Amino acid sequence: MQSGRALVIGGSIGGLFAAQFLRQAGWDVAIFERSAGDLADRGAGLNTSAELFAALARAGASVNPALAFHVRSSAWLKQDGTIGVEIPRGWRGSTWGTIYRPLRAAFPSALYHAGKAIQHIEQDGNGVTAIFADGSRARGDLLIGADGIYSTVRKQFLPDIAPIPAGYIAWRGIINERDLPPAAPDLLLDRAAFSFPEGELVVSLPVPGADNDPRPGRRRYYFIWYRPTSAAEQRALFTDASGRDHGVTIPPPLIRAEFIAAMKADARRVLPPVIGDIVGRVAQPLLQSITDLEAPRMVFGRVALLGDSAFVARPHVAAGTTKAALDAETLVAVLAAPDGDIDAALAQYERERLAFGHAIVAHARYLGAYLEAGGAAQSRDPAQVLREYGAPHLVHDADFA
Ligand SMILES: Cc1cc2nc3c(=O)[nH]c(=O)nc-3n(C[C@H](O)[C@H](O)[C@H](O)COP(=O)(O)OP(=O)(O)OC[C@H]3O[C@@H](n4cnc5c(N)ncnc54)[C@H](O)[C@@H]3O)c2cc1C
Repeated sequence: MQSGRALVIGGSIGGLFAAQFLRQAGWDVAIFERSAGDLADRGAGLNTSAELFAALARAGASVNPALAFHVRSSAWLKQDGTIGVEIPRGWRGSTWGTIYRPLRAAFPSALYHAGKAIQHIEQDGNGVTAIFADGSRARGDLLIGADGIYSTVRKQFLPDIAPIPAGYIAWRGIINERDLPPAAPDLLLDRAAFSFPEGELVVSLPVPGADNDPRPGRRRYYFIWYRPTSAAEQRALFTDASGRDHGVTIPPPLIRAEFIAAMKADARRVLPPVIGDIVGRVAQPLLQSITDLEAPRMVFGRVALLGDSAFVARPHVAAGTTKAALDAETLVAVLAAPDGDIDAALAQYERERLAFGHAIVAHARYLGAYLEAGGAAQSRDPAQVLREYGAPHLVHDADFA
């Protein structure tokens, strides 16, 4: 069984899982997070899994049923707003902040260093040195790069690997249950709804309210609307009113008002009326570029990538947080092997998680292929999408049986 000092770069969900499991296994751990503010204020809706909640409990986070809102079926909502097909396929909708907060609360603040951006890593025969933007340094036996899709850690070792645009974007939004249009609660609050406007897709589901309040009237409703987008259209969408091009991620308040207005007008034109109405009522939508990211390696000496720094699958698999939790659990399990050394453990971690990462990205690409701009204008059989959505063969969840 190995232990020593571990430096975890990135204090979001992946970094917190890794740090907490390492601490439980006897490691001396420190998290270094670039952001100085409270991360919990950001983010939108996401799907969870039984595996994620089991991992949260093992990490010592305070888990209760209100952390996710459980719907027991998935339905195709036709363009006229009636239900076409419904299957007994459940989802556990939640929000990013709802999952992050208890995990963060379980980790000692004294070991969480906010406002620390890693710039560079040096390695020698005795360990790893992290060098931060403020000039400070930290030394450890192991460094975990949990610094997300634009990972600085990954860029040092794999400079040519970057997220690849999929050819479509997603508009996302959350609305309070009390602000839903009158027809919505009866139709939408007991199921996940899938709508298929020509060549597009909207997935929407109820999620817990602010402060995890699950009571009727206090919940929220979340949607994600995928739309094919050419490279030129995408560049325009991610350019703010001052002409600054934000690349593939734009702070929501900087999305140009005319793009939001056009999106809302399209929503009323092409979506089932109740969904179009909901999209129109969201005050501040979020815009996301859909990308694929696959790292060919996850381990570089005593440096290991974890979570989104190594693999980002399109959101159709609905498993980003579960994947990060499973990476962390595998890493700590292989390090705990009685006879192995750190290097052998990291090699095993890489073998196991590379296979998982490639498989989940491939499944997400398959699920979203018909949405790609410039691709064959196929549509999908709604019933088939309902059955295949998510990653039931990779993320084990009682609901996916
Ligand atoms: C604020 C926030 C909100 C999110 N909201 C959603 C959501 O609503 N829905 C959804 O599906 N997914 C969301 N995600 C992504 C989701 O967390 C991940 O897909 C998944 O949980 C894996 O997380 P991760 O920890 O590997 O990466 P991430 O969650 O992306 O975390 C990476 C962390 O590393 C930090 N970091 C980046 N560069 C550096 C550096 N140079 N030095 C130190 N730290 C660095 C970042 O600030 C961030 O906290 C969100 C992520 C964040 C950070």
